[in-house]
Formats: sequence, structure tokens, C-alpha cells
Amino acid sequence: MNEYNFDTIVIGGGPGGYVCAIRLAQLGLKTACIEKHINLGGTCLNVGCIPSKAMLEISHKFHDAGHQFEKLGINISKPKIDTKKLIQNKNEIISGLTSGIAGLFKKNKVQKIQGIAKFIDKNTVEINLADGSKQKITAKNFIIATGSEVAKLPNVEIDEKIIISSTGALELESVPQKMIVIGAGVIGLELGSVWSRFGSEVEVIEYLDRITPTMDEEISKNFQRILEKQGLKFRLSTKVISVKKDKKSAIVEIESVNGDKKEKLEADVILVAIGRKPNTENLGLENVGIKINPRGFIENHHLKTNIDNIYAIGDVTTGPMLAHKAEDEGVAVAEMIAGQAGHVNYDVIPNVIYTYPEVASVGKTEQELKAQNIDYKIGKFQMMANSRARATFDEQGFVKILSCAKTDKILGAHIIGREAGNTIHEIVVAMEFGGSAEDIARTCHAHPTYNEAVKEACLAVDKRAIHS
Ligand SMILES: Cc1cc2nc3c(=O)[nH]c(=O)nc-3n(C[C@H](O)[C@H](O)[C@H](O)COP(=O)(O)OP(=O)(O)OC[C@H]3O[C@@H](n4cnc5c(N)ncnc54)[C@H](O)[C@@H]3O)c2cc1C
Repeated sequence: MNEYNFDTIVIGGGPGGYVCAIRLAQLGLKTACIEKHINLGGTCLNVGCIPSKAMLEISHKFHDAGHQFEKLGINISKPKIDTKKLIQNKNEIISGLTSGIAGLFKKNKVQKIQGIAKFIDKNTVEINLADGSKQKITAKNFIIATGSEVAKLPNVEIDEKIIISSTGALELESVPQKMIVIGAGVIGLELGSVWSRFGSEVEVIEYLDRITPTMDEEISKNFQRILEKQGLKFRLSTKVISVKKDKKSAIVEIESVNGDKKEKLEADVILVAIGRKPNTENLGLENVGIKINPRGFIENHHLKTNIDNIYAIGDVTTGPMLAHKAEDEGVAVAEMIAGQAGHVNYDVIPNVIYTYPEVASVGKTEQELKAQNIDYKIGKFQMMANSRARATFDEQGFVKILSCAKTDKILGAHIIGREAGNTIHEIVVAMEFGGSAEDIARTCHAHPTYNEAVKEACLAVDKRAIHS
């Protein structure tokens, strides 16, 4: 009989954990996945990627109906939003997808255990089961995929009604007249856009001197201008001193970073979107001696923690906090445990902001190339000159390609434009194969498509774009 209950146990059923568990089972390993919530899918499916994209889509349609249709010659009466129906639609999408994962677990014979897991030793976890009882189970290998949770501001209590996190922003029962978003990162801008489109006055406060600070600077400046035209207001280089709740509103006290100006702002809803922190508390990491870094992330070397049978993937460990990064790490770890050569290429992880227009990037920014003294060439192409973008009234944005000055190998790509999150993928694939701008420039692209702008930007690297 086997020494352990399972070959592998995955703790956490988010995109990292559930994908890892399925891949382990595909590779013939007896696998369990412990998830504290009834639903699988983690942050991504329940309160993250999917519900936010559903709300972005509905709010985009609402905004078009109210502001765009008339210009296009479609006359309808002023649209009204039914927030109850909105939330119901979003919840139906979540339940469809999460039950789909439960089905995949059954199909692949992954055992789901609902409960909270804690390490007792390097081969044993104790689970607080949903019915209140406790159970100990053992495995040869463990994967920690416990993800992350909302980071809070000190002394600010999130009630999810007036002072809300991203989770509360997906559940608002009415459209706030004024919303203040603290943090100009991806989540704050996506959810700020949602409520702005439904009619809220949205003001974004950011400590740094630009929005989405990890993006290419030219892209983030253009992106800010586009969002401002849509009505979002920004206060950059501004720090939040306090947030105090009243009965039906809240007051945010702010100060410029250089300390010369203090102000108080009132809003019906304050969205705290300052980032996320890894879920490592109460996991019993101290019982096995697993190391975390000063920011609380589990340290890893090729996804292995400092304990040789315990791995960490996704938001709980270092690297970008993205669902597809978590999934790829899940597959890589499963393959490594099964004796294969699992691998994640961290240089080629796309990043997408699903606003309108979308913003997508992969690889290096211009600032990173300069800092690393890498000589590069730039090719740019405006969406205004792309015939598909003109035909669909989506002329905002541009494609920017950065390639090596010597070899022409693509080092980075940045796009603002409708469906930029899809368009970027031909560049992602080209980069994965070590492709050059010339490779894409010589590839036949269907007409009319947004991707033709990518081809033109690649031609522009060599100063031979046709349509500009
Ligand atoms: C509003 C929002 C929008 C987002 N949009 C995008 C997007 O468009 N694209 C993108 O790539 N990323 C997006 N993200 C980020 C994405 O959701 C995360 O990067 C992703 O979910 C990380 O996956 P994970 O498996 O590491 O962790 P999680 O999805 O957080 O899953 C971890 C799971 O572990 C469980 N767990 C924790 N502790 C225990 C325990 N002790 N025992 C048992 N179970 C436990 C949790 O309940 C959870 O289900 C978004 C996030 C938010 C909040």
C-alpha cells in the first residue's frame, strides 16, 4: 500500500491550483485539491478576472447605447441600468464557469476537499472541513496555490458598502453619484471605468506621478489622456492620509506627496485598489520552515520552496499577479513532479488592461531597455491609419514595437486599441519563438484586421510602413 494518502495535494483551487491539479491527474498522479470555498476558480473566477470582464462588457454596451448609438444613426431612448439584473448576469457567468471546473475535476479524477488546510509537517496537512470537523491527510508532494487577498490601508475598515474593495465594486446595488478610487493600477482603472460608464463621477488618487507605473511611459501617458477624455479625473503624486466613513458617504483626506497641499474629498463610495497581498497566514508555514520574503511572498527556486517536496505557484509566490502566470506555473510544476521538464518563460508574459480601449503589453518597456543599456529600434503605427479601426469607429491608440538594434529580435510590444488583449498574441507567439520584427512584417495578415497595425508597426521598425 502507498505510504501516503495522495501522490500530490494542491492547496487552493484558483487558476494556479485547479489547473495544476488537473495536469497532475492527467500525468497519472493521485491528486487532491483542498479549497476553502464551495466554488472552485479562486479569485479569478469568483471575484476577479471574470466578473470584472462581465461588468466591463455590460457597462461598455450601456455607454455605447447612451453615447455612441445616436452618432451612428441608431436612435433609441435613453438606456437605464438595472443593477440587480447586472449582478445576476455576472453571477450566472461565475456559477457556469466554476461548476465547469468541478466537472473537469470529476472527469480527471481529482478529489476536491472543501476546507482550510494547514501544514503539520512536510508530508501532512490538517484540514478544517466545511462541517466543522478536522481531518489529517498526507502526500508525497504539496503545491501551495493559496493566492492573494485585497491589501488594506492601515486604519481603514472596508465595509463593502461605502468603503469597498474590488469585491464590493462587483456587487454595488446602485450607481454611486461620486466614487473615489484609491490606486491607479489595473484593478482600480478597470472598475473605475465600469462605474464611470454607468454614470458615476470617478476620481482616481495615485501616490506615484503616473498611472499604471509598470507600463511603458508613453503608453501610460496616452492611456491617461484617453481615460480623461472619457471623464475620469486623476490626482497623481497624492497620498491618502485618512478615510473616514459617515452615514452615507466617506471623507478622504489627501496630501500632495511633496506635502505642500492638503485637501478633503467626499464621495458616496471609496474603492480601495492599492494592490493585493499573498495568502500565507494560518497555513502552518512555520511548522515546516517555509521561507517568505519581506513582502510576504513565498520564495521559490524553479517554483520549489526551500522544502524539497513543497512547491509554490501563482499569486502567493513572486512574479506578476496574473491568472495566466498562475496557470502556466501550475502546469510547469505538475510536469516537473512527473519527471518532465516544466518551464515558464517569464520574459514573455502578456499583460492586459480591459478598459476601452484595451491596453496590452509583453516584454520590455523602453525605460527598461534604456536602464539595461540595450540598443533598440522602435516601430509605431497609429490605429487611426488602420482600416478596420476606422470601419469600427475605434481609432484611438497605437502599436509600439521595440526590437534589438543589432538582431531585430522583438524585445517588447505595447498596444492601446480595441481588442489589444487579443491582438498582442501574435507578438507573444513571435517572441516565444525568438522572432524578429521582420518576421511579423513578412507574414501575411488578413485585411481588414486590427492585427494589420502590428504588421505595419513591425514594418515601421525598418522605416517602411506602407500606410503612414
Ligand atoms: C478584480 C480583479 C480583476 C482581475 N483581473 C485579472 C485579469 O483580467 N487577468 C488576470 O490575469 N488576472 C486578473 N486578476 C488577478 C487574478 O485573479 C489572480 O492573479 C489569480 O486569481 C491568481 O490565481 P491563484 O490560483 O494564484 O490564486 P487565487 O485565484 O487567489 O486562488 C487561491 C485559492 O486558494 C484558496 N485558499 C487560500 N488559503 C487556503 C487554505 N489555507 N486552504 C484551502 N484553500 C485556501 C482561496 O479560497 C482561493 O480560492 C484580477 C484580480 C482581481 C481582484
